[in-house]
This record gives sequence, structure tokens and C-alpha cells, in this order.
Amino acid sequence: MMLDYNSLLLALGVSAACLAVTLMGSWLVRRAETVLLTATIGLVLVVTGIFVYSAYVSRPDTGFAIGSFMLFHAGFAAIWGAGKQFLTGRLSIVATAIRALAAMTFSIVPMVAGYDGLAFIADNLAIALLLFATARQYWLARAEAPAPLLGIAALYTLTAISFVLCAAVLTADGKLVLGKAPSNWAEDLSLAVCIAGMTGIGALSLALHQWRLAARHRLEAITDPLTGLLNRRAVFDQYGTRPMGTTAAVIVFDIDHFKSVNDRYGHAAGDRVITVFAEELAANCRPGDTAARLGGEEFALVLKEIMPGRAELTAERIRGAFEAREIPIDDEVLKCTVSVGVAPGRSMPLDFDAMLSAADKALYAAKRGGRNRVELAGYLTAVPAEVSRTAS
Ligand code: GH3
Ligand code: MG
Ligand code: MG
Repeated sequence: MMLDYNSLLLALGVSAACLAVTLMGSWLVRRAETVLLTATIGLVLVVTGIFVYSAYVSRPDTGFAIGSFMLFHAGFAAIWGAGKQFLTGRLSIVATAIRALAAMTFSIVPMVAGYDGLAFIADNLAIALLLFATARQYWLARAEAPAPLLGIAALYTLTAISFVLCAAVLTADGKLVLGKAPSNWAEDLSLAVCIAGMTGIGALSLALHQWRLAARHRLEAITDPLTGLLNRRAVFDQYGTRPMGTTAAVIVFDIDHFKSVNDRYGHAAGDRVITVFAEELAANCRPGDTAARLGGEEFALVLKEIMPGRAELTAERIRGAFEAREIPIDDEVLKCTVSVGVAPGRSMPLDFDAMLSAADKALYAAKRGGRNRVELAGYLTAVPAEVSRTAS
């Protein structure tokens, strides 16, 4: 071999250090992504462990071995913690610490007792278990982005298997006392797998991070931050100028005398009222329906599949539920109402745009008619989709 084991080990350490710097850079750009920080900490511990282990390979001093065990086990436990955090969105420090301490105890006890052969078997098995457990986190998260996540899970599994092989070869040799770092074909193979695995996992993790950011930006672009409902853009993206048939309906809502709520109780109270209405709207939504905040205190509900005569009942239910809501503001209890315009589906399909303006007209009729009521679109002046499209 052109390069000896220790040179390759140092090469692994240097490339792992580079990956740690890259991960930390990504975290610095977006501090909220603490999973990157967890992974960076894990990697820094492992890198330090690699250098300490390299010292042990040159000079087999028990202190170096114990130091490298502690760093490896803390590092791989943190890498597991990052995987768990990726899956659940929460860092579990206790679970991570328990795994690190268990792995350390498992291998340090035989080392201190003088059985370094046994200690290295335990060390390899502990690292393999942590890596299998890490692979499992990404496997469980695979639905989010199957290609990179299955790739990461596969690479962690392969790396784990290489550590199992190291333990197996040491077990087969059956030496309880080695007096130096283990050196066999499994160690060489494991080192090669670690170099390849880490490079692949590093590249996939960064790609995954970018993918998550892009997905989050896409979501933010279509979400109303105050209510969590879809925004105006999202509804138009979804329905645009698509013709809507008999089974569809568009309902629009506008909270009554909302300016006076703002004037009397302040803007924050107004926002609270908007949020409460959004809750009622979402609670009365079925899967497939689209609830959106069109702007200010105006909302829309698009029903894709609704029986004739049912849309106005849905509208009436939401109006009634909102009227009944008691909204605590400071020491007072506020009650608000909403006016509603309904454009039910017709046998002659209309564009979404045309349905929305028909619902709007009905809404203004509801306002004129005294508010806190539901009005149906008359369609007396509405123009069929085909005609409106050729006219424009
Ligand atoms: P009407 O019954 O005719 O609907 O009377 P209104 O007072 O509700 O009139 P309008 O619908 O025109 O009122 C819209 C007001 O909503 C104007 C604006 O100050 C307020 N507004 C718009 N966006 C927000 C918001 O995000 N938060 C709060 N608190 N107020 C908003
Ligand atoms: Mg309004
Ligand atoms: Mg209003």
C-alpha cells in the first residue's frame, strides 16, 4: 500500500474537519437550523477522536485509547442526536448523553481492566450501534426527500457494517490483550468505507439542507403569517382561471365593522379577532377545501366537492360559529360578526375569478342587507367563462 494506515487516518481526520467547517458555515448563515450545529459538534468530536486515535496508533498509551473512545462515542452520539433532531425537530440532550455514556462505559471498563482486545470489540460494536440508530432516523424521515434520505441511511448502514466487521475479526482472533491498535483487513476496509461514507453523507446532508430551505421558502411564500392559512397568491395559483363546475363553490367572508374594533381596542386586538375567525374557518374545512386569507379581514373558502344547496349551509355554520365566539380582549369579552357571500357551482362553468367576483357581489349585498348574514350570488349579470375569456 502506498499510504500507510496512519496517513489515511489523518486524511480522514482532515476531510472530516473540512466538512465540520462547511456545516458550521451553513449554520452561521441560518442560526435557526440548530440541527446543523448539533452535527458540527458531533463531527468536531469525531475529528478530535481521530487525531487522538492516530496518536495511539503511533504510541499505544492507554490514556490515548480512552481519550479516543470518549471522543468517538460522544461524537457519534451527537451525530445520532442530529439525526433524531432532523426527524423530530427537537434536540434531545438527555437521550444523546445517555447513549454517549453507555457507549463509553461499555468500552472504557475493559480498557481500564487491561483487556484492550475486549475494549476494541466493545468500541467497534458501540460505534456500529450508534451508526445503525442514526441510519434509522433518516430512514424514518425518508418521506420528506426520499433520494437523499435513503442515500444517507444507506451510507450510515454501510459504515456501521464496517465497524461490525472490525468487531467480528477481533472476536474471531480471540485475543483479550493486544498491546496496540488493532490492525487487520477489516480495519483497513472500515477506514476506506469511512472516507467514502463521510464524503457521501456530507454532500447529501448539504443538499438536503438546501432542499429543506427551498421547501420552507416555498411554504412561506403561500402562507399568511398571522393565521397560518393560505394567502391570496396561493388560491390564485391553485385555481387561477380554471373553470369551476356544478360541484364547486366559492365563499367569501368580511368581518363586520372591523375598523371600529381596531379603533376601540387597538391593532393587536384586531389581529386577535382575525386569528379567531381563521380558527373557525379552518375548523369547518374538510380535506380538499381551501381556506385562505385574501387580505385584511377578508377570507375565502373554496369548496371543490359540495352538493347543490350545501355551500350556503357551510357558510351559515361558519357565520353562526363566529357570532357565538367570545373573544377575551384585556378584561372585556368581545363579540364580532361576519358577512358572507356565496357563489355556488353552476351547470355552466365559470372561471374561479368570475366565481370570486360573484361571491364578492353577494357579500356586498349581505353588508347592505344589515351584515351578519349570508347572501347567495344571483348570477343575473354573470357572464359564462367561455364568453368572458373571448372578450378579454
Ligand atoms: P364593514 O362591516 O363594512 O366590513 O366595515 P369594516 O370596518 O370592517 O370595513 P373594512 O372591511 O373596509 O375594514 C378593513 C379594515 O381592516 C381596515 C384596516 O385598518 C383593517 N385591517 C386590514 N388588515 C389588518 C390587519 O392585518 N390587522 C388589523 N388589526 N387590521 C387590519
Ligand atoms: Mg374588508
Ligand atoms: Mg369588514
